[in-house]
Amino acid sequence: MKLHKETAESLEPCKHMEGMLNRTAEGSAPPLMKWYALWHAKGCSRCGTFLARMTALIAQLKGLHGVGADSIGGERLGDDRWTSLESKWSEVEESTQTRK
Ligand SMILES: [Zn+2]
Repeated sequence: MKLHKETAESLEPCKHMEGMLNRTAEGSAPPLMKWYALWHAKGCSRCGTFLARMTALIAQLKGLHGVGADSIGGERLGDDRWTSLESKWSEVEESTQTRK
């Protein structure tokens, strides 16, 4: 029986996502990286929480208020855009997993 202590403090993003999430939160990520980070964060509660915190923290530091994860960098993705992006990345992830 494996039990991991999951406290709010120990909540860390996936190792391979940390850099992308940081850059996405600060707005320095290129569009594709930002999309991927946001897409991953939508389906991964740890990265989602991490990104939300980083975004809020950076927004605070910049003196901005009310900036949500979907308005990072002042850009907004329409729902249809999200859907096509999501299916694209699902395909990529699935093919990566089955190729193993
Ligand atoms: Zn993750």
